[in-house]
Amino acid sequence: MSSPNSETLAIQQAIVQGASGDELAALPLPESYRAAFVKRDEVAMFEGLESNDKDPRKSLHIGEVALPDLAPDEVYLAVMASSINFNTVWTSIFEPLPTFGFLDRLARESEWAARHKRDEHIIGSDASGVVLRVGSAVRNWKPGDRVTVHCNHVDDQDPSAHDDSMLATNQRIWGFETNFGGLADISVVKANQLMPKPSHLTWEESSVNALCNSTSYRMLVSDNGARMKQGDSVLIWGATGGIGGYGVQYVLNGGGTPIGVVSSPERAALLNDLGCEAVIDRSAEGYSFWKDEHTQDESEWRRFGGRIRELIGEDPDIVFEHPGRSTMGASIFAVRRGGTVVTCAATSGYMVEFDNRHFWMKLKRLLSSHFANYAESWAANRLIDQGRIQPLLSKVYTLEETGEAARAVHRNEIEGKAGVLCLSPSEGLGIDDPEKRERIGEHKITTFQRHAR
Ligand code: NAP
Repeated sequence: MSSPNSETLAIQQAIVQGASGDELAALPLPESYRAAFVKRDEVAMFEGLESNDKDPRKSLHIGEVALPDLAPDEVYLAVMASSINFNTVWTSIFEPLPTFGFLDRLARESEWAARHKRDEHIIGSDASGVVLRVGSAVRNWKPGDRVTVHCNHVDDQDPSAHDDSMLATNQRIWGFETNFGGLADISVVKANQLMPKPSHLTWEESSVNALCNSTSYRMLVSDNGARMKQGDSVLIWGATGGIGGYGVQYVLNGGGTPIGVVSSPERAALLNDLGCEAVIDRSAEGYSFWKDEHTQDESEWRRFGGRIRELIGEDPDIVFEHPGRSTMGASIFAVRRGGTVVTCAATSGYMVEFDNRHFWMKLKRLLSSHFANYAESWAANRLIDQGRIQPLLSKVYTLEETGEAARAVHRNEIEGKAGVLCLSPSEGLGIDDPEKRERIGEHKITTFQRHAR
């Protein structure tokens, strides 16, 4: 059982007791800190195993790692809580590639970037916490600021980052393609990854949103995404999952009709509670889009499309796609003439296949999307802060249990998001504005927690 070291414990106590920014800045920083990481010399440990048999509990270690120096544009963050993302799963099962290659390539970019090349990869792409120190070039943030972190890691001096920073040639996902991620007691982030912590949420509720919420915002709402309009119908795969659960909320907020696909009656009930009336339980209805490894079944696409028409009376304007190989053929088939399939992932396999005749003859569009730029992340965080989008926290783990939590996400056992307590000593801490919380409504904020298994 590992716990924070003595200097980190002093930081934790100071934060919990409401220390000022100056008091926090005066506390000594530890030489090392507790973190979740995978090891370079273990990347071959699952060779020969099926993906489902690769167990993150074996590859994810919790232990002390050396605190890196701070670059001028970075801050040290005391991480109060973090979350499991699907990229935590990818890193911990070394699929589709071990992530050390990302760190080694980053290390070649500059003197500061060289710090990222280590024999341990400290992972995690979400965090809520308190700023401890700022680098000499940081202007807008100071010790004591309570923040959340988005994972867009970009060198903003590179001109390719200036318009849409997701198009930057050096764009990376913090804690996946960089080191020093959020599943730790302390993290190192660029100052332009920081956003104000929503004042009505706990540390763990604040920590689960940035990656998935911003991704769904770009996919559906942003000009860079599917540009959803009022009245649009949107088919959402994995509608109670990490990105799907935010997707459903964006469609409802935007005056559209979500059609949510899930795989159990409990998830269907959760969707109804969220306000999504058109629900397809893919397990109960037994869709099987692939006859065998090489052949898709068009009659199953038709049955699926027919079910959508039965539910909402039309073909969807947009399909929110991420399962990839297992569903892309059906998604392209089901979207309406002229409609858009927007994809950001391929959980079930990245070599996707669809019938191009249905695609071109009906003038459909396939749009790629990946995380979110600074402006999109900020806009998505603002909606959480306004109480218009609710956090999807359903289950909370300790940092020690990171492997367990990643395994549960890998096995599709979690609805919404799994939060991870890092320095926060217990659940329920960190609410700065209880009146605002009451105004927005405890019941609404905790929908996924109430439905948690
Ligand atoms: P998640 O919380 O595990 O949710 C995924 C949902 O997809 C599950 O709840 C499951 O719902 C559904 N699903 C899984 N396999 C499926 C299949 N074969 N066919 C149909 N539905 C399936 O994961 P997440 O956080 O939402 O992430 C989903 C994917 O998006 C991951 O691959 C992740 O890496 C990726 N992602 C990409 C970005 C980006 O920026 N590009 C950002 C976030 C996530 P049911 O079983 O209930 O149907």
